[in-house]
Amino acid sequence: MGVEIGQKVAERFQRYVRYDTQSAEDSESYPSTEKQKDLGKLLVDELKQLGLEDATIDQYGYVTATLTANTKRIVPTIGLIAHMDTSPDVSGTNVKPYVHKNYAGQDIVLTGDTKQIIRLSECPELKEQLGNDLITSDGTTLLGADDKSGVAEIMEALDYLTKRPEVEHGTIKVAFTPDEEVGMGVEHFDVSKFGAKFAYTMDGGAPSEIENETFCADSVTITFLGVSMHPGFAKGKLVNAVKLASEFLEKLPKNTDSPETTEEREGYVHPHTIQGGIEETIVKFIVRDFEFEGLKRREESLRALAEETVRNHPRSDFTFEVKESYRNMKYVLDKHPEVVENAMRAARMAGLQPKLHRIRGGTDGARLCYMGLPTPNLGSGTQNPHSKIEWVSIQDMKKATELIVNLVKVWAEANRV
Ligand SMILES: [Zn+2]
Repeated sequence: MGVEIGQKVAERFQRYVRYDTQSAEDSESYPSTEKQKDLGKLLVDELKQLGLEDATIDQYGYVTATLTANTKRIVPTIGLIAHMDTSPDVSGTNVKPYVHKNYAGQDIVLTGDTKQIIRLSECPELKEQLGNDLITSDGTTLLGADDKSGVAEIMEALDYLTKRPEVEHGTIKVAFTPDEEVGMGVEHFDVSKFGAKFAYTMDGGAPSEIENETFCADSVTITFLGVSMHPGFAKGKLVNAVKLASEFLEKLPKNTDSPETTEEREGYVHPHTIQGGIEETIVKFIVRDFEFEGLKRREESLRALAEETVRNHPRSDFTFEVKESYRNMKYVLDKHPEVVENAMRAARMAGLQPKLHRIRGGTDGARLCYMGLPTPNLGSGTQNPHSKIEWVSIQDMKKATELIVNLVKVWAEANRV
């Protein structure tokens, strides 16, 4: 073949990670940091250079563009999505990408901070990378493979498709989003304007992993209400909400149902904040379960424990508030099995053995599923995200790029009449 798939993906990737696009929690603005738009503007320029004339960045920082169909067949419009921001947990300022060629199985000591070591013993994924070329930061910052590898792969796939017009495809919509890492990635995303029928986020680990399941997630706020009284004259009158909350927390299961005691398919309830005083003490939870019924069961058991607590204390009370966070995307994806099946086919065509994965968390795709856009998550190659020992291999980024190209072909082919 004339043009190799993913030829310039590493170059692109290293260009993008030099842009500091760290998002921020508790920001008043959208996007949460203005600097994310700098990468957005670069991407608009590059998309236009590729011939995607309608490439644009809007007031929220969403970059969108269209690769027009080159087939007369009726093919559903497919979306490709990656996020531009990096985690607020680790600095993304002055990222210096470093290529470790021909990985030979050693521990990798990062040059800018030799305390940062990627150890083979702690990172089994490294065993798959013998002979490959790995990219890391210098150890003083994160790398930003999450999710600039996804951005680079989508750009590179578009580059290939525009140079190879004989590859038939339907309309492809592209979106690069801000603020994913602060849970706001699709806050202002206009699904109907985007115009895709199905989409894929490129924001996972190994390219063979197809993520089609997330938790069902809610947050629960329980407010215990006591009665305040001068402690000198409080006998038989004061009811201490601090103690109510503590009594309640003691009732929680000790060896099960928490993040620190569960894995795989198990759900949990997780008290993460407690604040207040005599009159009012608030306990905040996140609740997670892969099944909707399981989620509701966990919430009801929290309510029952709170009821049990106040029952023993006349004049005490509590309020109980549930807020929906996101739902398991599988409920939506199962109604459109071709979305995941086509990704599996595309992975096999790239010589990979696809594995379905569930995420003990959420994705922007999970939200998009419930906004009317079924969107599983595909592997972009990122390992050790949100850390100074983050890495990605060039070969994985090439595979992921190839997978995207295959996916586009599969959709055009599956709809051949
Ligand atoms: Zn990500």
